[in-house]
Amino acid sequence: MGLTTFADVWRSMQGAPLDNALASIDRATDADVAIALARRPVTGAGFLALLSNAADGRIDAIEQAARDLTAQRFGRVINLYIPLYLSSFCINNCAYCGFGKEQNFRRVTLTLDQIQGEGERLLKEGYRSVLLVAGEDPREVPVAYLEQAVALMKRIGFVFVSAEVGPLSVEEYRRLGDAGLDGVTVYQETYDETLYRQVHLSGPKSRFEHRLEAADRVAQAGIRSVGVGFLMGLGDWRKEALALSAHVRHLNRRYWQTSVSVSFPRIKEAPGDFLRSQARPVSDAELKRLIFAMRLLFPDSVLTLSTREPSALRDRLFGAGINQASAGSKTAPGAYAGTPDADDGEQFPVVDERTPQEVMAAIKGLGLEWVFKDWDSSLRPVS
Ligand code: SF4
Repeated sequence: MGLTTFADVWRSMQGAPLDNALASIDRATDADVAIALARRPVTGAGFLALLSNAADGRIDAIEQAARDLTAQRFGRVINLYIPLYLSSFCINNCAYCGFGKEQNFRRVTLTLDQIQGEGERLLKEGYRSVLLVAGEDPREVPVAYLEQAVALMKRIGFVFVSAEVGPLSVEEYRRLGDAGLDGVTVYQETYDETLYRQVHLSGPKSRFEHRLEAADRVAQAGIRSVGVGFLMGLGDWRKEALALSAHVRHLNRRYWQTSVSVSFPRIKEAPGDFLRSQARPVSDAELKRLIFAMRLLFPDSVLTLSTREPSALRDRLFGAGINQASAGSKTAPGAYAGTPDADDGEQFPVVDERTPQEVMAAIKGLGLEWVFKDWDSSLRPVS
């Protein structure tokens, strides 16, 4: 019988398989990188070479290969979406997050009227794809509330509605799917179980395996898109990249009807002294290496970059692996419509602070097009 969930797969990779893969990355040479570049899609061994330091010697050729493949599979198009924060309540205590239980600020959960106000404002900007975000607090943000929010977004005109909330059961994901939910994003944060326990100090999120299997449950519930990723800056990014690639491969093989997208959140600032004491920063060069390698390994996966990254780097990566991005994001509930009792806390600082129009102009300047949704050719960019 095959391995049933990603927790089984990840367990089977511990020890020698993972150690050998890391050793291959360490000893990869320029010749290995050249061989990797000659194959489409790259092989598993090629992927390891592309993650290695040796890849930097051929980074321009790797970038061009990622750019060519992205254009071939997705056209010269960047799909734009927007996050809409519903609630800053959270009962977890993640060491890297501004919404953690220990953080002291005035918390807010939007009413349905307020959600509608936010949504209508974003629709006027042109957005048709929205990511609903909330901290994990079943009393403040129950599934019934999420169901209503999803149905509301669909009713007022969003075509693609996804959610980034605490992991749910298959049955709960099914309820959200019935309400119209198209996608779920659930980052593992770190695939390293020991580290995971160190940075998730309390609350339901401290259950490592429950989170590790969340994407399986999303697919089992029939949701058509699932987004995965890890938080860069917590652990050894190469080990995390191996886990992430195994995760995507597992989901692609086991749930062919569910499309898998990958995001690359990178931690830059965190509350308290977490970054000073524990973080393992990922450089721009390493981030580029990872994105190009993921594109060359998974030609058909949507690769997403958020406004956590600076504008110059985002522009460089648009079309070079990345084919989806947020723009004009705000990371506090009620922030778009300026809801009077909106909180004074945000989950993470936005670094690319350009307006959506400025991002669109930049995309156009790169010789690319932007769309608000890429699954309906009837909606073309407006300028
Ligand atoms: S990362 Fe998510 S679960 Fe953790 S404290 Fe922040 S909002 Fe809560």
